[in-house]
Amino acid sequence: MIQPGAKSLRKIAVIGRGTAGSLAAANVARLHSDEDHELHHIYDSRIPVIGVGEGSWPSLVQELHKLTRLSHEVVQRRLNGTRKYGIAYEGWGHRKQDFIHYFTPQQVSYAYHLSADYLVDLLHESTRAQHIDAKVLSITRVEDGARVKFEGREAEHYDLVFDARGFPRELQPEQHIDVPYIPTNTAIIRRCPAIIKAERDGPVVRPTYTRAVARPHGWVFVIPLTVHTSYGYIFNRDVSSQAEVEADFDALLAADGVEEFEQRAVISFPNFVHRQIYDGAVARIGNAAGFFEPLEATAIVIAQLQVGMVLQMRLSRPVEYRENDAPVVNRYLINYMLCSGLFVGWHYCCGSRYDSEFWRYARDHAWPQYRAAADPEAVDCDALRKFDEMIGVINQMVIDQEDWMRTCAVFPLSSYAQIAQGLGCYPGMTNGH
Ligand SMILES: Cc1cc2nc3c(=O)[nH]c(=O)nc-3n(C[C@H](O)[C@H](O)[C@H](O)COP(=O)(O)OP(=O)(O)OC[C@H]3O[C@@H](n4cnc5c(N)ncnc54)[C@H](O)[C@@H]3O)c2cc1C
Repeated sequence: MIQPGAKSLRKIAVIGRGTAGSLAAANVARLHSDEDHELHHIYDSRIPVIGVGEGSWPSLVQELHKLTRLSHEVVQRRLNGTRKYGIAYEGWGHRKQDFIHYFTPQQVSYAYHLSADYLVDLLHESTRAQHIDAKVLSITRVEDGARVKFEGREAEHYDLVFDARGFPRELQPEQHIDVPYIPTNTAIIRRCPAIIKAERDGPVVRPTYTRAVARPHGWVFVIPLTVHTSYGYIFNRDVSSQAEVEADFDALLAADGVEEFEQRAVISFPNFVHRQIYDGAVARIGNAAGFFEPLEATAIVIAQLQVGMVLQMRLSRPVEYRENDAPVVNRYLINYMLCSGLFVGWHYCCGSRYDSEFWRYARDHAWPQYRAAADPEAVDCDALRKFDEMIGVINQMVIDQEDWMRTCAVFPLSSYAQIAQGLGCYPGMTNGH
């Protein structure tokens, strides 16, 4: 492939060794046609990665095959993976009934449930890079690239920097778009015995689903891997105390017949999008660029898009276009993330089988803020219009064939239709009222 931009990408830095940084480094190593480029993969080994993120989207299956050049079977086994065909919702919405949100085409397309640590290891094996264990103090945009300052090491100049340093320390309105219509902010992670056993001679092919179980204080994900089953209780620490949530978590595990577990982590998370994801020389990716709670497992698939788009633009376009391209790419990525966030928040619009303080807060207080929070004046993009259009299409009495293939961010119209029907959110009730 001809890459007119390759000459202007002689020296690239990826900062962060979590899922996002590891995907970026592997992509640079794989896509850059010029063998002589320099890739520095920088991380501070004293700062741990998040390490959860065991649900994915189907595009990761293809991407890992391409990046590692390993067969799908080998990749799946190396990840202790199972094949995820969708998400099984339990007790959500008006109907209070169970339903599945399948990937499209239904029962054909699958993703992985995977061990996040092994994903990072797998990506590193296929990435040729210089590894630097150092703390980054600052990344500054300069005329022809970016300057990175380190603790105890000379500063360096790079043509492109991927900043994958994880969540910002605090949200600041001038830098971050807050997403208050998603009502959760904390996760408790427990590791339980495997319910799916590894096959001796090949990958596990039987279909599996992430369970998303509505509970009085939020919801619980259940992700089946071949080495353990991962449980995560997602809740709002301003509405429920950790002790209350732990007690209800115990009750769910008892009901599931789980006799032992290992408490892994309590993680606070913000729901937000950075206003400056890409400026031409610095690309924020992964949790540094934005995050939404894990209900639809969108983090890895969004990181894939961020990395792919920035790299393709820089490699395939002459460097003279960089300054004009940057704001267009930035707005596209913000828009894409906000569309995803609106879809995730919408799951709460009809409440659940529980008439608890959390669910009243989620349905009556958090979700109704979505129009003001995503107003184009406030976010400088038209994600709200795109979301409204999707809701408009599924609300029609008859959906035109030309609309069947519509998508809004990663979600096709079929995802909107499955969630609307599953929640019992029929025409005229998409706000839950
Ligand atoms: C509860 C929960 C469940 C999740 N479930 C899913 C899921 O099912 N599917 C999914 O796709 N995603 C999921 N995610 C998101 C997933 O965890 C993220 O995709 C993943 O954490 C990406 O993180 P990251 O690589 O951006 O940052 P991190 O994992 O936080 O890594 C940050 C890296 O930056 C380095 N670093 C930080 N500061 C510096 C510095 N100053 N100098 C040098 N290095 C530095 C650290 O050493 C580390 O290597 C979940 C997240 C949470 C919180």
